[in-house]
Amino acid sequence: MITISSISFGEDVEREVLDTLRSGVVAQGPKVAKFEERFAELVGTRHAVAVNSGTTALIAALQVQDLEPDDEVLTTPFTFVATLNAILESGATARFADITESDFALDPAVTAERVNERTKVLLPVHLYGQVADMAALMPLAESRGLAVVEDAAQAHGATFEGRGAGSFGLGCFSFYATKNLTTAEGGMITTDNDTVADRLRVLRNQGMRRRYEYEMVGQNFRMTDLQASLVLPQLGSYREQVESRRRNAEALRTGLKDVDGLRLPSELDGRGHVWHQFTVTLGEDAPIDRDILAQRLYERGVGSGVYYPKAAYDYDCYRKHPRVIIEDTPVAASVARRCLSLPVHAALSDGEIDQIISAVRDALEAS
Ligand SMILES: *Cc1c(COP(=O)(O)O)cnc(C)c1O
Repeated sequence: MITISSISFGEDVEREVLDTLRSGVVAQGPKVAKFEERFAELVGTRHAVAVNSGTTALIAALQVQDLEPDDEVLTTPFTFVATLNAILESGATARFADITESDFALDPAVTAERVNERTKVLLPVHLYGQVADMAALMPLAESRGLAVVEDAAQAHGATFEGRGAGSFGLGCFSFYATKNLTTAEGGMITTDNDTVADRLRVLRNQGMRRRYEYEMVGQNFRMTDLQASLVLPQLGSYREQVESRRRNAEALRTGLKDVDGLRLPSELDGRGHVWHQFTVTLGEDAPIDRDILAQRLYERGVGSGVYYPKAAYDYDCYRKHPRVIIEDTPVAASVARRCLSLPVHAALSDGEIDQIISAVRDALEAS
């Protein structure tokens, strides 16, 4: 079976973990500091603050905005539910704008229409490893006085016109097991702002600057050196990993072009895609639906994933929530029914890529 993601750690990781175990410092220590330094370089920001998940990165980035319950965070509904959970945890209200099918991220025109006097934060999600249209979203945020929090959980090292994902506003990353870089569980917030970075560092450690001196209501959002040990060796070969993902994406695009009813993902002009996912969408006229395609691929030994089957707000617990404002997002609703992610990870062999291509062709063309 070809799986949608693949995790394997080399001997370099084993050595790093062993070194941490033997050092006696297993909680937050020098390895977390080293990871922060190197991650800030990757993103191109002055600061990177490590936390214990992508979700807590988003919560912390929103908490330092000091939001009131009526303040609105405007985001995309086509995302992992953590984006929405973090907004609600920060105490603010969530509102949604629709996406474009070309990048699966916020549509700047619809987003502009949904900004109102209560909107305080714009929260784009760089889905599947490609940065949202920041050339349009940043001027919108600036003209309306909005803070920008980027959900870059899937976009480590992605770029937009040469700038790193996570360097436009407060960047929030995840290092969950299936992400391009992993600490098993972990997160990071990136920023150029010295004051905000300082507040985040105090916030993640119980609001404590010096021992038993509390300057704010805090949290325990700390990452451990054991977690950082997993990722330090991965950073050294990350460029090569992205290169493999890019080659795999190119091979899939070449092998699957001209398949009727299938729309392929592409790297848009000016955007450096890191191919966390390779997500195809079936046309409305496709001979079979998405779930049947997934089933046929499975029968041919090819795993796939649905990210995501519904708009994030489209569950009873959010539909009934007083701080979730629901308006139509027809493109997101439609794409959620038609999308399917195929394996694109760096561990795929040429033979496996060929197998994925023939499985998709068989499934659609035999119909
Ligand atoms: C993974 C992910 C998160 C949450 O990260 P965790 O580390 O799992 O908490 C948030 N947003 C998106 C888009 C993600 O893919």
